[in-house]
Amino acid sequence: MSKLIGIAASSGIAIAKAYRLVEPDLTVEKKEIEDSAAEVLRFQDALNKAKAELEKIRDRAGKELGQDKAAIFEAHLLVLSDPELIAPIEDKVKTEKVNAEYALKETSDMFVSMFEQMDNEYMQERAADIRDVTKRVISHLLGVQIPNPSMVTEEVIVVAEDLTPSDTAQLNRTYVKGFTTDIGGRTSHSAIMARSMEIPAVVGTKAATSEISNGDLVIVDGLTGEVHINPSAELVEKYQKISSDFEAQKAEWAKLVNEPTVSADGHHVELAANIGTPKDLKGVKENGGEGIGLYRTEFLYMDRDQLPTEEEQFTAYKAILEGMEGKPVVVRTLDIGGDKELPYLNLPKEMNPFLGFRAIRLCLEEQDIFRTQLRALLRASIHGNLKIMFPMIATLVEFREAKAILEEEKQLLINEGIAVSKDIELGIMVEIPSTAVMAEQFAKEVDFFSIGTNDLIQYTMAADRMNERVSYLYQPYSPAILRLVKMVIEAAHKEGKWAGMCGEMAGDETAIPILLGLGLDEFSMSATSILKARSLIRHLNKAEMGQLAESVLSLSTTEEVIEAVNSAIKL
Ligand code: PEP
Ligand code: MG
Repeated sequence: MSKLIGIAASSGIAIAKAYRLVEPDLTVEKKEIEDSAAEVLRFQDALNKAKAELEKIRDRAGKELGQDKAAIFEAHLLVLSDPELIAPIEDKVKTEKVNAEYALKETSDMFVSMFEQMDNEYMQERAADIRDVTKRVISHLLGVQIPNPSMVTEEVIVVAEDLTPSDTAQLNRTYVKGFTTDIGGRTSHSAIMARSMEIPAVVGTKAATSEISNGDLVIVDGLTGEVHINPSAELVEKYQKISSDFEAQKAEWAKLVNEPTVSADGHHVELAANIGTPKDLKGVKENGGEGIGLYRTEFLYMDRDQLPTEEEQFTAYKAILEGMEGKPVVVRTLDIGGDKELPYLNLPKEMNPFLGFRAIRLCLEEQDIFRTQLRALLRASIHGNLKIMFPMIATLVEFREAKAILEEEKQLLINEGIAVSKDIELGIMVEIPSTAVMAEQFAKEVDFFSIGTNDLIQYTMAADRMNERVSYLYQPYSPAILRLVKMVIEAAHKEGKWAGMCGEMAGDETAIPILLGLGLDEFSMSATSILKARSLIRHLNKAEMGQLAESVLSLSTTEEVIEAVNSAIKL
């Protein structure tokens, strides 16, 4: 029995056996062999095992994920039966008297680099297929297993070094009860997605993959950030009780689903939801979301091998706007980069992706991508209450350029006789300190602000949001952050505009009283945090919170702010 401490990334308790999602070491060494006929047989045996495995995965994918995912594995099977790849490997074993894994790796590397150099998308995809298939056959030759979560048939807790947002999206909610990772922070995108999928998660434990073996019983405590490995029966029982208490608390909050979000002294604020796909709408409704405060459209672009078409995007945007039945829907234009990659764009690797060519910077340069998205949004605008928001705006010039492109596309559509709503508000994310500092100037030109504290904190404190070693600097209640937030809200109000927040801070229990006091108009958060936030706000007095906010702004440290909030709010 042992325990790890990480960052509580998604609330709830999960108790299940561990499933390690860790790439095994597939390093291949060159060895001389004597019996090349036996070595060829060993190779064929590994080949057959890989084929059998792929057939199973293909069938399962076909049933559960759809034929297009199954087609990927069908392509892999074809590679394994291709004599143009297989024969040279067997020849190499025979003529050079080398081990099968070495012959396979050398031969496939040669084909991969040949295909990759061709200026042909089809050939480049074949290169990727060969690389994948080679790994699978090598794993059989080395006697190690490549994990495959889509083959899981019992309840598990996924243990990984890290999960990319696209790994997270593929987790099967029926079987994956929780996850824990070595790295990552509360605002890494896998953590954000875990919250919207309601999967308890603890990230940034530093040691999950080194301490947890396949099949260990694991408790993931997404409320405190603890992970217990092979716990005692007493501890399991204690956690079953914590879990049922948590469910009972959620049932209490659920009573507020159709209630307005009004403070004890009658001040109304809007509680909206952050979503990543149209599928998240169900959770928004179940949790009483009063709008969508952030639709992260980049997820539409992920887990695929080419850009989504205008039509595909139009369908997604229309579905969300119609689904929200006239309630506000803030759609953020593509924010790719940082921890969200699009491999098919073939962008060069950067030293500091969070400070690099991402979001609006990429959109202003790759205008085809941007214009397609804007057209889809403009066309969908007549189906609901659309607000468009640009991410990562650092200067007014960027905002003006992006706005001019939007206006051009609008005009083109109107000229084509296509209807576009006349009331689309246009806002920006405030997530770069320069923009917060210049909020007064921005407020004259934008319709609204949405404060993206996940990045605003990362950039203000110079602390990578993915790096658990500096996660202590993720300090939403730092007076430095609070002062920036105040500047943004005041600047908006001075120009008669509204200010929202869609970073994780908006759903944070300690931050909410201060934000209410500062006059934040809209709080957008993971849908699962909405009811808890509503319950809290209904107990708070806005005027008193105004005084609290004023007083914490002059404090010196985060710790002092937490203490002041805790002593002011006794629930
Ligand atoms: C933010 O930065 O606060 C935000 C909401 O955007 P994202 O988390 O997608 O970077
Ligand atoms: Mg951001």
